[in-house]
Amino acid sequence: MNVDAIKKAVRDVPDFPTKGIVFKDITPVVADPRLFGDVVDSFADRYRDRGVDAIAAIESRGFIFGAAVAYKLGCSLVPVRKEGKLPWKTVKTSYQLEYGTATLEMHRDAVRQGAGVLIMDDLLATGGTAAAAASLVEQIGGRVIEMAFLIELAFLEGRRKLQGYSIYAPVVF
Ligand code: AMP
Repeated sequence: MNVDAIKKAVRDVPDFPTKGIVFKDITPVVADPRLFGDVVDSFADRYRDRGVDAIAAIESRGFIFGAAVAYKLGCSLVPVRKEGKLPWKTVKTSYQLEYGTATLEMHRDAVRQGAGVLIMDDLLATGGTAAAAASLVEQIGGRVIEMAFLIELAFLEGRRKLQGYSIYAPVVF
């Protein structure tokens, strides 16, 4: 993966969505077919032959990468969504945000007992979202193989919240 080119393409948007947050905008990465292809191919190469039965992709930017990688691996894609979006029976979990709480859901029958699941999102910040997604996968009997992010904001120390899980994040700011 061309980490330097991806780092250059990611756009910093200050004070979005709220004051004090510097938002890492990945839209220029996916707008560039060479960069997006490079990212998807690299993830697919990493996870080929690793026993991934399903990718649990986190709404909404996780869908962009998760869907493409699932297609390349020939595995299931499982959406992890914000509360109230999924139509079928769900498991849910709430977690702490900087201000207030958030709830994530996954369909109860999304993966079979013992399935190997890769969790994917665009970016690891404090780790709360990924921890919640892992808890959903485990509630329905899935096994988290690894958590994959394109970007890690290392200064937020999200890995601390994800101890016990293997984490892959090639682009570190
Ligand atoms: P966290 O639970 O703190 O690890 O937050 C991760 C989720 O929030 C991911 O779905 C990210 O897409 C999003 N996110 C958090 N902080 C940022 C940021 N600075 N720039 C872009 N996305 C972010």
